[in-house]
Amino acid sequence: MELVFATHNKNKLEEIKFLFPHYIKLLSLDDIGCDEEIPETADTIEGNAILKAEHVRNRYGYDCFADDTGLEVEALNGEPGVFSARYAGDDKNDAANVRKLLSQLEDKENRNAQFKTAIALNLNERQNLFTGICKGEIIKEQRGDKGFGYDPIFKPENFKKTFAEMSLSEKSKISHRSIAFRELIAYLSK
Ligand code: IMP
Repeated sequence: MELVFATHNKNKLEEIKFLFPHYIKLLSLDDIGCDEEIPETADTIEGNAILKAEHVRNRYGYDCFADDTGLEVEALNGEPGVFSARYAGDDKNDAANVRKLLSQLEDKENRNAQFKTAIALNLNERQNLFTGICKGEIIKEQRGDKGFGYDPIFKPENFKKTFAEMSLSEKSKISHRSIAFRELIAYLSK
């Protein structure tokens, strides 16, 4: 069985390839001749995952899954959410995003936040949605140099380290993305 992962990111594809059941051949967008940036214009994280999976099925005719992730901050009514990558501008600059978030929270007591990953799967005329959430808080100063995005200021609940202070395998045990992918893989392995 062939299944497209709606990403141009080869690293993302390689990372999850070995977790998948052997009878599923995973293809990237580049493998199916799709070199466009699929628009992410929905106003929810789930909506964007669905949009991407639908686009691949409708335009390219493949069974497919697509993911979308965002950081939702309680004191900012769920922002940056769907705008997480472009929070400080269209150049998707991680350092600028982190600085902007810290300044938005400067006078806020409530630092609660969560990462959410949604995965939409279009398979055999059916659509399923899988969600992974990791709750935590935004700390006041950056700590750690691993990971990416908001990792240096996100401290997961019940942990002392930020995501950026964790090894990839530590982060993978608890991260929003791993939770959502584990659900997807359990479903596909049934
Ligand atoms: P994407 O949907 O996986 O491309 O994620 C969108 C944006 O959310 C990224 O550009 C990052 O800013 C942020 N993000 C997603 N996952 C993580 C994570 O695990 N740690 C920190 N930031 C993340």
